[in-house]
Amino acid sequence: MDGATIMQWLRTDDDAAIEELWRRADAVRRHRVGNAVHLRGLIEVSNRCVRRCAYCGIAATNTAVERYCMDDAEILACAHKAAGFGYGTVVLQAGETPELDCARVEQLVRRIKTETPLAVTLSLGEQDEATLQRWRDAGADRYLLRFETANPTLFARIHPRAPGAPDRLALLRLIKSLGYETGGGAMIGIPGQTWDDLVRDIQTFAALRLDMIGVGPYLPHPATPMGNDPQAWMAPPEQQVPAAEQLVYRVIALARLVRPDANIPSTTALATVNLDTGRELGLQRGANVLMPNLTPVRYRALYAIYPGKACLDETGEQCHACMRGRIARIDRNVGTGRGDSPGYGSAQAAST
Ligand code: SAH
Repeated sequence: MDGATIMQWLRTDDDAAIEELWRRADAVRRHRVGNAVHLRGLIEVSNRCVRRCAYCGIAATNTAVERYCMDDAEILACAHKAAGFGYGTVVLQAGETPELDCARVEQLVRRIKTETPLAVTLSLGEQDEATLQRWRDAGADRYLLRFETANPTLFARIHPRAPGAPDRLALLRLIKSLGYETGGGAMIGIPGQTWDDLVRDIQTFAALRLDMIGVGPYLPHPATPMGNDPQAWMAPPEQQVPAAEQLVYRVIALARLVRPDANIPSTTALATVNLDTGRELGLQRGANVLMPNLTPVRYRALYAIYPGKACLDETGEQCHACMRGRIARIDRNVGTGRGDSPGYGSAQAAST
């Protein structure tokens, strides 16, 4: 899809055109990935982080937050719970911390793969090639790393680089070349993000041939440099993208149109801006994945990447029941099996 067309879908205020976008995205979703909604059990393994991302509430700069790192037994217990609920996948997500070193994660992946039938998705930030290779060899199936914004200048401003680290777009290409199912995505409404940037984000989903695409609204966290003084970061008003719920649905819909086979979650950030129907509307406008939270309740509130996160005091059981209910009420069904992206196997075969 060319940039002008994407821009038109993003900015039109013609209700009929917007309805047409929802209709097309939903039709492509149904045709390419069906009515199944895959559930990925999310384990927020640690809120420790050495990085200083200007948007993120668990960045090293926030000295007010109490830090935790789950131990191996707790993580494995969550994985077994995921298998017990019938999920096909667990996602291990965390800040970048030396406590989750290469050997420890390798061991954990091996144990989950040996003890359960689950696909394992890692979302552990920026890692070097040797580490990513070892985790892949240990059996990790997928890697999620949002590129946050495809504008390199904005990215550098909001995401101070670690010495020697490649940029995230290069890292995503590497992750793909290692045979991971590869997930990226962006925040919508980052202070400083322009409409042209957002068009480029959507084109980047296609250019990277992403298997998974996660998007959500940027939500200001007061204990971050960006949340504390948003005006200092904003683009001129006519260029600044708003962190608006309706715009998130448009980006989900366009993600479905540019990557028809991708797995696209209706995210927690969306549920945070619309707890009643955000998840459902995402699923009806292109998404086909939900990520129920399995993190033990005592850690949940501490994984505060943004404030007011949805469903903070729910147990894994409650979250599971709630998600199933939401899926049933919109006449969809809970996915079974691993829920790989349909394009994934053939693309891999074609490239080897
Ligand atoms: N350390 C990992 C996981 C980070 S949390 C990594 O960097 O990849 C996962 C995602 O949460 C991030 O990629 C980002 O897109 C999102 N996120 C972080 N802070 C946010 C905020 N203030 N508002 C909305 N989304 C946020």
